[in-house]
Amino acid sequence: MKRESRPHWSYSAINQFLRCPLQYYFQRILKLPQPSISSGLVLGSAVHGALAVYHRYLMEGQDPVEQQVRQEFLETWVSKTEEQTVEYKANESPKELMDQGLALLQLYMKQPPPQNVVAIEQRFLVPLHNSDGEYLETPLLAFTDLITEESDTLKVTEFKTAGRAYGDFEVETSLQATCYVNAVVEMTGTLPTVEYTVLVKTKTPKIQRLKTARTEEDLGRLGDVVQKIERAIANDVFFPIETPLNCSTCPYRQPCREWKPDVVSAIDAVDATKPMDAVNPAKAAYTLNGAKSC
Ligand code: SF4
Repeated sequence: MKRESRPHWSYSAINQFLRCPLQYYFQRILKLPQPSISSGLVLGSAVHGALAVYHRYLMEGQDPVEQQVRQEFLETWVSKTEEQTVEYKANESPKELMDQGLALLQLYMKQPPPQNVVAIEQRFLVPLHNSDGEYLETPLLAFTDLITEESDTLKVTEFKTAGRAYGDFEVETSLQATCYVNAVVEMTGTLPTVEYTVLVKTKTPKIQRLKTARTEEDLGRLGDVVQKIERAIANDVFFPIETPLNCSTCPYRQPCREWKPDVVSAIDAVDATKPMDAVNPAKAAYTLNGAKSC
């Protein structure tokens, strides 16, 4: 995958800041090495690689060769597990996870294949705008898994591998879908629909399809959110959000425990016009930890 050298936003960067600004800081500002990768990410990469091979056959009007799809899954799995240490969950084994991935792929390939494939793993570098219609300086980089055409409307399909089924609310509120719609609107001028195809690795594997859509208003709101994140970053507002969901798979648990708020930069962020001794340090620390300044 080509790396974008120009500064840009991506859904994963936006989402990471919203989930835990301190994790964003460790990964994207300090660029600390990631000592490990979660098993879920390895499985997701291997499934995505294999699905891309499958969809390419369809786009080229050929019969998919299942052996090639499985081969791509296994090769991606091996290269990912050789690159980094993989953190498996308790009671999870690599063999079991690989078997689950292959079973999900087989189940997906048994279903009616997508029609009118327009693009696979399409890269978009597009502008973002706020709710006042003003364009932001930093563009958005988006990669869509699959784009098809249905009755003159484009449909973006996002593939997920998950341990449980998704809820409607998750896809209705996901900023990822908003990023995709923003990308397609900027490139084509038309609003696409979005479908989440969730490959659920329960004991009996299943496939769930959830449809969602976004409006022009949602795109402006996405720009508003990104503008606020930019302002927080410019003011050094980074703080931990400790939740079991965030921290159990975080590769930065050690630096996080050692982290202390930078009180001086917090004071600067509160009011740069006041002399240092006029600022209440307690208020400054509260501003940093509670993100009240943005
Ligand atoms: S351990 Fe938790 S709070 Fe700390 S950086 Fe990671 S996700 Fe954030």
